[in-house]
Amino acid sequence: MKYHLEDIVAIVKGKLLQQHGNALIEQLLTDSRKLIFPDTSLFFAIKGPRRDGHSFLEPLYEKGVRNFVVSEPADTALLPEANIIQVKDVLQALQLLAAHHRKQFSIPVIGITGSNGKTIVKEWLNQLLEEQYTIIRSPRSYNSQIGVPLSVWPMNDTHELGIFEAGISQSGEMDRLQKIIQPTIGIFTNIGEAHSEGFLNLRQKVNEKLWLFTHVKTLIYCKDAPEINEGVATLWQQFNKGGKGSFEIFNWSTVTEATVQVLTVFKDNGATLITALYKEQTISITIPFTDDASVENAIHCWCVLLHLEVMPAVIAQKMLQLGPVAMRLEMKKGINNCSVINDSYSADLSSFNIALDFLSQQRQHARKTVILSDILQSGRNEKELYKEVAQALQQRGVTRLIGIGDKMMQHQAIFRLATIPELAFYPTADALRHDFSHIPFRDETILLKGARVFELEQIDRLLEQKVHQTVLEIDLNALAHNLKQYQQLLKPSTRLMAMVKAFSYGSGSYEIANALQFHKVDYLAVAYADEGVELRKGGINLPIMVMNADESGFDVLVQYNLEPDLYSPGLLQAFETFLKREGIRRFPVHIELETGMNRLGFSPAELPVLLEALKGDTFTVKSVFSHLAASEEKQHDAFTQQQAAMFHSMVEAIQEVLSYPFLRHIANTAGIARHPDLQLDMVRLGIGLYGIDSGDTHKLELKEVSTLIATIAQIKQLKEGETVSYGRKGVVNRDTRVATVRIGYADGYPRNLSNGAGKMWVKGMLAPVIGTVCMDMVMIDITGIPHVQEGDEVVLFGRELPVSQVAHWAQTIPYEMLTGISQRVKRVYFEE
Ligand SMILES: *Cc1c(COP(=O)(O)O)cnc(C)c1O
Repeated sequence: MKYHLEDIVAIVKGKLLQQHGNALIEQLLTDSRKLIFPDTSLFFAIKGPRRDGHSFLEPLYEKGVRNFVVSEPADTALLPEANIIQVKDVLQALQLLAAHHRKQFSIPVIGITGSNGKTIVKEWLNQLLEEQYTIIRSPRSYNSQIGVPLSVWPMNDTHELGIFEAGISQSGEMDRLQKIIQPTIGIFTNIGEAHSEGFLNLRQKVNEKLWLFTHVKTLIYCKDAPEINEGVATLWQQFNKGGKGSFEIFNWSTVTEATVQVLTVFKDNGATLITALYKEQTISITIPFTDDASVENAIHCWCVLLHLEVMPAVIAQKMLQLGPVAMRLEMKKGINNCSVINDSYSADLSSFNIALDFLSQQRQHARKTVILSDILQSGRNEKELYKEVAQALQQRGVTRLIGIGDKMMQHQAIFRLATIPELAFYPTADALRHDFSHIPFRDETILLKGARVFELEQIDRLLEQKVHQTVLEIDLNALAHNLKQYQQLLKPSTRLMAMVKAFSYGSGSYEIANALQFHKVDYLAVAYADEGVELRKGGINLPIMVMNADESGFDVLVQYNLEPDLYSPGLLQAFETFLKREGIRRFPVHIELETGMNRLGFSPAELPVLLEALKGDTFTVKSVFSHLAASEEKQHDAFTQQQAAMFHSMVEAIQEVLSYPFLRHIANTAGIARHPDLQLDMVRLGIGLYGIDSGDTHKLELKEVSTLIATIAQIKQLKEGETVSYGRKGVVNRDTRVATVRIGYADGYPRNLSNGAGKMWVKGMLAPVIGTVCMDMVMIDITGIPHVQEGDEVVLFGRELPVSQVAHWAQTIPYEMLTGISQRVKRVYFEE
């Protein structure tokens, strides 16, 4: 899309604060980290709860951006050649522009909302219809107040059908999304629980979502949810009363008459046969899935296809070929110390850009390879399309491109013109596979991106390090979410140090630090110098405090710019001697004070030695801190305050000898939530980041970050009287089905969970441990849990089973559970 800046000013009802030219705008930018095309981007300085887009004007200007939308007067002297549009509300301006753009096209547009299934229904409709229509759709689950305008923006003359999803979290939001999507066909997938999304009750939530459909011609929904059915009926009456004419109701039901009346749902051998009555005829489809959610999603899609009058034979054939939808981006460890991101499910420009963003956030390897199939985007000028792809690769510093497919081969020249250091092209993934042993893959991050037809999974299998099936899944969205939750408790000026010691509480090293760096925490802290070294080698450039430095690691501290915590006169003097010998001055350090934990820190009696040393110029004190012994416990609150008082008086003495400012901090996770008065200049957030509400404050909605998953190796049917595991501890007193799970105490599954103390989540039910936990295996009792098979996944803790619960069963604390998961368990990082 191209718009002249002057037209945009009128569309967004803004005024030009400064004009330098009448630029041609092609890209809308809301996140400064996603800049690819500086010349033709228009940056919207949106104000978030913590971050204000206005603070990125200058950095973006330096990178070549010249067009800005702001709501606050900008310092034009710093942006001399910029066009600056001023509006009242920047987000609203973005939405107005997108709505205006959408209005230029009169194609059918499907708008999808509901509590679950939006993205799957959208992606499946795309799979089902992409041969008949040139489709524009929301990338991934871009369904928010910002995501929807960005989704609609690329719409152009070649598109014949739009598919967009809309998600809301508060009342009033859907009205705005309706104006941007302007759907002609609506799909209401389903409705979940009200409390989960900030609404009073189900009725209010349904009514809010129905705003999306205020101008549709057809509305597709399942009649079996009474709230939706009644809500639609009311909307229908309003249409008629308001003289707007009416819309066509296209509903389905499994229990009563409906446009599509589902007669049977028959599951067998990995597939589901669905038959229904439609226009007095019996029709049927078979889908390659058996779970209830997939059946519901498929029926919604079926209704759309029937409404669009797709031929029955085509419907049947396409439904059989439905494929899984990748809801998230995953990064795994690969061969030769590579990291592998596998996104081989689709290949359109917007999902490519999102995957590329995820790749460029990874700093652990300097080398970045993209293995990319042809882009399937019919209707665009191919040369322009591949030029855009090449530019994006170049902008993100990709060091090698391996192109797969005829189009990639054909447009090689375009990639050769861009400065991508290494290039290779193959007609098919198979051809690459044959050449695989000749291509070096080492110490690099590799993105696999391609449409399903190119079958890049076979390359993924070669690149991925094969280990046994037990994995710890790390949800990077949950991590970011938890960080935000705690940030919301802080004053804007309070800084945040993220504790990433002990392999980030078991969840990973540079992978987690990378995510935290991306989300702009101020400081990191590790326990030992070598943990810090690993972060530096992984490309982390945030300041890092080392809590437990010792003499043997002083040179490493200096070499990697790690800042030690000086906690005793002995350490202070040793480090001072070292720095003087090396001729280093003003080295950044942190001072720990003892106030009652009785672990590390200068006591009041030791202060004079400290003060004397600080008078010289060997050190720069970055911060002074202390640690609370019982911030999570109410019964010790008086003691906590006593610690704080002691801390303040000791800090005063230090302040007197230092002529420069330094940060003071004392609060850990529970301190942040329970003692707002102890925020001081910085807080040290640990376990809360990983989803544990330390101190049970119930003030925050935290999400579990780590989920430990293992698979079932074997299933046995035992008779009354038989026994299970070592020492014959598991006695069977009825006919029992036992599953052997691939995890043991060597993986960090505590032996304390033996003999029924622990339970695992299996297909929605809890199965108790039977007998003792072995080194590499555990047996569980799965009697009465239907449909369990060998190879099935079992959740040991995480999303479905809180780690605090399992820790409680094991008579320990979540800290020990999380950090105890051994390094032989593979970590998989994902982002939605
Ligand atoms: C581990 C640690 C923290 C973080 O504690 P949480 O309870 O996990 O928030 C803070 N400060 C110090 C000095 C620590 O050692």
